Amino acid sequence: MADLRDMGRQDSGPHGSGRQDFDAVVIGTGAGGAPLLARLAQAGLRVLALEAGEAHPPEAMPTDERAQAGLFWRDERLSAGANPLPFGNNNSGCGVGGSTLHYTAYVPRPQPDDFHLRRTFGVGEDWPLAFSKLEGYFDELEGFLGVSGPATYPWGPPRRQGYAHPPLPLNGAAQLMQRGAEAVGLRTSPAPNAALSRPQEQEGYGLRPACTNRGFCQAGCSVGAKASMDVTFLPLATRHGAEIRAGCFVTDLERRGDRVTGVVYRQGGQERRVRAGAVFLAAGAIETPRLLLRLGLANSSGQVGRNFMAHVGTQLWGQVEEEVRPHKGIPGALISEDTHRPEGADFAGGYLVQSIGVMPVTYASQFARGTGTWGAALTSHMRGYRHTAGINVLGDCLPQPGNFLELSDEPDGRGLPKPRIHFSWGENERRMNAHATRLMTDLWTAAGASGLWTLERSAHVIGTARMGRDPRRSVVRPDGRAHDLENLYISDNSTFPSALSVNPALTIMALSLRTADGFLAARRKGESACDRGALEQT
Ligand SMILES: Cc1cc2nc3c(=O)[nH]c(=O)nc-3n(C[C@H](O)[C@H](O)[C@H](O)COP(=O)(O)OP(=O)(O)OC[C@H]3O[C@@H](n4cnc5c(N)ncnc54)[C@H](O)[C@@H]3O)c2cc1C
Ligand code: SF4
Repeated sequence: MADLRDMGRQDSGPHGSGRQDFDAVVIGTGAGGAPLLARLAQAGLRVLALEAGEAHPPEAMPTDERAQAGLFWRDERLSAGANPLPFGNNNSGCGVGGSTLHYTAYVPRPQPDDFHLRRTFGVGEDWPLAFSKLEGYFDELEGFLGVSGPATYPWGPPRRQGYAHPPLPLNGAAQLMQRGAEAVGLRTSPAPNAALSRPQEQEGYGLRPACTNRGFCQAGCSVGAKASMDVTFLPLATRHGAEIRAGCFVTDLERRGDRVTGVVYRQGGQERRVRAGAVFLAAGAIETPRLLLRLGLANSSGQVGRNFMAHVGTQLWGQVEEEVRPHKGIPGALISEDTHRPEGADFAGGYLVQSIGVMPVTYASQFARGTGTWGAALTSHMRGYRHTAGINVLGDCLPQPGNFLELSDEPDGRGLPKPRIHFSWGENERRMNAHATRLMTDLWTAAGASGLWTLERSAHVIGTARMGRDPRRSVVRPDGRAHDLENLYISDNSTFPSALSVNPALTIMALSLRTADGFLAARRKGESACDRGALEQT
């Protein structure tokens, strides 16, 4: 088994191998950065990943809800708008593995019509590529990550292959959701989840054991059953010669003409630089546009930072007579996509419904925030914690001119401008939320829950450097390469033209692999192939 504590300092010297010259440098090691790092390393390229966060080996993951804060991006971000996003905890990750260290690992595929909302509804933005261009990557990822799921998944096109492993057991909330859904006529299915229901051998890592159902997925999986990048693509990458430098915050990209030539970063108070044949920016949908805006790069369209989206992610909570023990069991267990395109809906797009698990401190703070309950009343409510169960939705969000990221005048701890994110629900999000809240209320009532309350919220940060064919309306091409720079690629949640009505990580990884394959194909053909736009064919 690879010793993950050594990641980022596998070679001698104060900053990794000391090598300063790479074919490709990847910035960020989350769902967007790790898959392509492995692909490029497997192709024999000299590749380096620079990661702002530290390595968190599985065995060091605490079984402690409060300690999970160490996995999150802690630099302050400013929020504005009518539905300001809470940043800090429960937002985006920081560490070798990025946000996958703390994600719940729900990995449904998007459905084909997710990619053409505008064509269907006349609003939003269509993707410049079709579902069929990603389908092979979804197949590959579900096998490689070891996704557990049902023998037959009820939604989406017929699958070419089954899930790698049988479904995980249902936690208390999932069993309740199954009961309520049956009563209101909503189909459910065990969710595709990138945690193992059976052990799996992982190249470069060793044997990943099966999930032990302790329920701490959002605090980091201490056994390596959950397919975070640190136990899957990153060990694969290092097995094939990639270098990962942790604790390295990228501050600048050196340029000559329309090419990036080097990457400047800070590590332990020192400024360092490496030369790069190509740069893959995978710093997430906040830090990617923040860096580009600071450097005035890749923004001839004026679209960097624009089109910010976050899924409609409202939760509904209630209590039942029996013990649910919401901290136990895999939190990402049951799903329904019957609401993907609800009949008679007064909004564009759709949503899915998922069961959730929750730890006590998170639940107490959410209850206080959602209901304004404090002091003795909050303590009294928390006595019923073991009987508490929740569900949530995840729905489309349309890009709007008023939702964007900008650089503020306030410097952060590094002396760099803090990002300010403006976010307000539009009419479509409000209508979808009302539909979803009615449905969840019916479902939880039918399941026998009482004392219902909702937490209106938005989930995931999406869309601030979108892909498209038109360089006036998008930042990167369909293959992830910046319209403005020959050898700068973006690979993370920022390139999504629309939010999709599913959790994003599987699609981010699929795009990451596709970007790597396109880059490698162009390299084989020579740069002229790039110039002819061969990579943009969808
Ligand atoms: C609590 C929670 C649960 C979630 N559950 C699910 C789920 O069940 N299913 C799902 O699909 N999605 C889930 N998500 C969302 C999902 O985890 C993210 O959308 C996805 O992992 C984002 O990947 P990314 O590569 O775009 O960015 P990130 O994972 O944020 O990766 C960016 C990386 O870049 C690094 N970085 C940033 N700036 C710099 C810099 N200047 N220099 C060097 N490094 C830098 C960061 O430290 C980070 O490691 C969840 C999110 C949260 C918060
Ligand atoms: S519930 Fe399973 S996947 Fe989640 S942290 Fe525990 S062992 Fe890992």
